[in-house]
Amino acid sequence: MIELEKSRTQLEALKLFTAANLLESRLQIATEKNMTYVSFISDLLAEELEQRHRRNIETKSCLAHLPYRKTLDEFDFSFQPSVDQKLIAELRTLNFINQAANRIFLRPPGVGKSHLAVALTIEANSHGYSADFITATKLIEDLRKAYQNNRLDTRMRKYLNPKLLVIDEVGYLPLDQLRASLFFQLINARYEQGSIILTSNKTFANWGELFGDEVLATAILDRLLHHSHIVNIRGQSYRLKDKLKAGVLSAPNNRQSS
Ligand code: ADP
Ligand code: MG
Repeated sequence: MIELEKSRTQLEALKLFTAANLLESRLQIATEKNMTYVSFISDLLAEELEQRHRRNIETKSCLAHLPYRKTLDEFDFSFQPSVDQKLIAELRTLNFINQAANRIFLRPPGVGKSHLAVALTIEANSHGYSADFITATKLIEDLRKAYQNNRLDTRMRKYLNPKLLVIDEVGYLPLDQLRASLFFQLINARYEQGSIILTSNKTFANWGELFGDEVLATAILDRLLHHSHIVNIRGQSYRLKDKLKAGVLSAPNNRQSS
């Protein structure tokens, strides 16, 4: 038992905390099952590695500034039949990240745009891709402040580095000339260099108004859409589904076209 305690302390000193915690129970199992020394040590180390992998994903997800954690498995396709399951399965392969291509989730609130974007960020992280998630408002404010402080280049790099950049909620607020131009600079710099997932409640027809300039809006869309796939989600808000069921609200189909 003194030896067991000593081994546990040694594992802890080596920062193999999972192995240290599991040492006693795994030893017991090994004895019961008559395991070889090699399979005992191999199983114990496998647990340590698995735990590290999980922690790594957790840390990366934290770094990705996710608004919440939702996975693709948690997405209910039966509630949102306009979302093509095959397409999402294709997105799950993350090939679009290798191709520096873009994916765009459009339309009304509550239909799962951010959920899918969050889930793909987690998926990307768990496969070792760097991914960052930010709302358009926050991103553009950050770039504007950097521009004001003569630090635009450095700050821009932060948004050019990740293999996948999720820009959530484009279109909630119209942008002035400087903000629109900063947004263009970012999209232009990532063009064919790194993937973007963008979500928006606006159709592209509204982008001229949103960016206060048809020419600039066209230039942004030109880069964004060249290597892209648009997922147009038509359906009801998941947030309101219980209220719809209870008949408190009428079906929101009309709200989508507004
Ligand atoms: P938006 O389209 O406005 O970005 P979200 O993706 O944030 O909406 O969805 C709102 C909430 O509803 C989130 O908690 C999300 O997880 C949930 N949700 C939306 N659609 C689905 C769905 N098809 N299956 C499971 N949860 C969903
Ligand atoms: Mg959203």
